[in-house]
Amino acid sequence: QPAAIVAVSNIEVVYNHVILVLKGVSLEVPEGGVVALLGANGAGKTTTLKAISHLLRAERGEVTKGTIAFHGEILAEETPNDLVQRGVIQVMEGRHCFEHLTVEENLLTGAYTRRDGAKAIARDLEMVYSYFPRLKERRTSQAGYTSGGEQQMTAIGRALMSRPRLILLDEPSMGLAPQLVEQIFEIVKKINVDEGVSILLAEQNTNVALRYADYGYILENGRVVMDGSAESLRQNEDVKEFYLGMS
Ligand code: ATP
Repeated sequence: QPAAIVAVSNIEVVYNHVILVLKGVSLEVPEGGVVALLGANGAGKTTTLKAISHLLRAERGEVTKGTIAFHGEILAEETPNDLVQRGVIQVMEGRHCFEHLTVEENLLTGAYTRRDGAKAIARDLEMVYSYFPRLKERRTSQAGYTSGGEQQMTAIGRALMSRPRLILLDEPSMGLAPQLVEQIFEIVKKINVDEGVSILLAEQNTNVALRYADYGYILENGRVVMDGSAESLRQNEDVKEFYLGMS
């Protein structure tokens, strides 16, 4: 069994010093794995990802209990930028491209924490285009004028430009047509396999997430209520009834 790239142990998260949102969440992503974090709107998926990436602080959120370890080392005061440099990057829900920059300029912003040279960055840009040929076609277009699917691809491509080891991917299916969702998940899976990048995927679309993930956790009200292999969750009667829309 591969070691965990990230291990979250019993964390509590509080917003604004008073609102307790995570009430003891534990989960692990094995090195090279794809793990799905499932649950309804408001269950705490985004908060969990932000606790790992340290983006919580920008929202007056705080981990008040528990630990998060990356490669076995407990994270503490690192800034989000420090974590990007160590290989942890979050792709935010809602795509968040720089609308006035071109697609290619957006991708290049992903390399800003890197200290290696222009050659390596140019090589990685080609790597991103090999996964997303559509972005190469659209590279000189202003990102704000590209489609929702293209903006989601740009957001993932930008994350890849930081040479991540762990991508925290928040709701990539949101607002996209089913066929496009499938296409994006295929590419994410390919990136996982070919580059060995581990992925923690927050999704409300349980059905698609459990087809691409190896393992899943279900969050309800800030607690993990169930976890297991993707296959076992797909077969589970409660999961079928409450999350897969069939009984
Ligand atoms: P979604 O799919 O809507 O992102 P989620 O499962 O990711 O849902 P979170 O976004 O983590 O859930 O939200 C969990 C709870 O924390 C919700 O009740 C939400 O209102 C609350 N919350 C989120 N961000 C903040 C914040 N900055 N300040 C206060 N409460 C917040």
